[in-house]
Amino acid sequence: MALNSKFFGSIILTLLCLTLLSHGNQAHAQKTNSVFGMVIHGGAGTILKKNMTPELEQAYQVKLKEALQTGYAILENNGSSMDAVEATLKILENSPLFNAGKGAVFTGDGTHELDASIMDGKTLQAGAVAGVKHVKNPIALARLVLEKSPHVMMVGDGAEEFAVQHHLERVSQYYFYTEKRWKSLQKRKNAAVKKTTMGPKKENIKLTDKEEGTVGAAALDKEGNLAAGTSTGGMTNKMFGRVGDSPIIGAGTYANNQTCAVSGTGHGEYFMRLLVAYDIHALMAYQGKSLKEAANTVIMKKLEELGGTGGIIAIDKDGNIAMPFNTAGMYRGYIRENGEAIVKIYQDKD
Ligand code: ASP
Repeated sequence: MALNSKFFGSIILTLLCLTLLSHGNQAHAQKTNSVFGMVIHGGAGTILKKNMTPELEQAYQVKLKEALQTGYAILENNGSSMDAVEATLKILENSPLFNAGKGAVFTGDGTHELDASIMDGKTLQAGAVAGVKHVKNPIALARLVLEKSPHVMMVGDGAEEFAVQHHLERVSQYYFYTEKRWKSLQKRKNAAVKKTTMGPKKENIKLTDKEEGTVGAAALDKEGNLAAGTSTGGMTNKMFGRVGDSPIIGAGTYANNQTCAVSGTGHGEYFMRLLVAYDIHALMAYQGKSLKEAANTVIMKKLEELGGTGGIIAIDKDGNIAMPFNTAGMYRGYIRENGEAIVKIYQDKD
């Protein structure tokens, strides 16, 4: 009798475990079957079709698609949004087309100083680097700061030393040389000489077609985690030590699983004063605005009113995408569950 009840007891226990396990699996399957996607930018500025050759236009489209498909492959295979953002941005950093990594613009001293940041919307952890001169992929260093240091941001020599300690690939400054960016510097310097009487503070620097190209990515993975990252060479002819919005968490980059993931591009000084990326999150979190409403309010109204130029790309926790900009164009694109990469350069009507 005692043996029988023990036997039935263990059967009931086993059945209970199996039921619980199957429920757990269902819950997990539901979670990992959710929407996913990624949105990217390659900089905003005076990007006009009339100034573009068909070959160059195609080169941008091909590279943006390659970047999107790289991120997609990771997300599709249940990879994390953080991995997708980093891998995607590395593709763009390694291309001379964009003002980040290889194609970084020149400072006023004729050098290159690179900035990058990345944020994990699940943990709200973030990593950033500014003013690095020899790191091939600043976005990878930003992620190392997030994962392997107790800090959020490292700059200059310290950031370089941290890259050495973690065996990150480093290059000479010459690696970042491109003729296009060198010519932009000369043009900007000549224009600045003509304006010397105005003084540096009063000079109203506008983004031109020669200096756009900051890169950014935002992703939502199958687990519902958001991430965003941004990488840039900054602005042509910038002063020594100048840091823009791209490595500033909340200004150029922000991600929060409660709302959205955002990366910006444009005149950094304005993005910093408006905390553009965080403001989009805040409008959603505190006022219940949709991603589209929040992004439009910040870029088409607040940024515009302050006299700033640029745009953002963003994805929210439900997979909605926004890509507003107040310049003539913005290299941008997105990809969703079906794997079709959509890439755009000019205003939507084009
Ligand atoms: N936001 C970048 C900066 O100010 C530049 C850009 O996005 O074009 O450094």
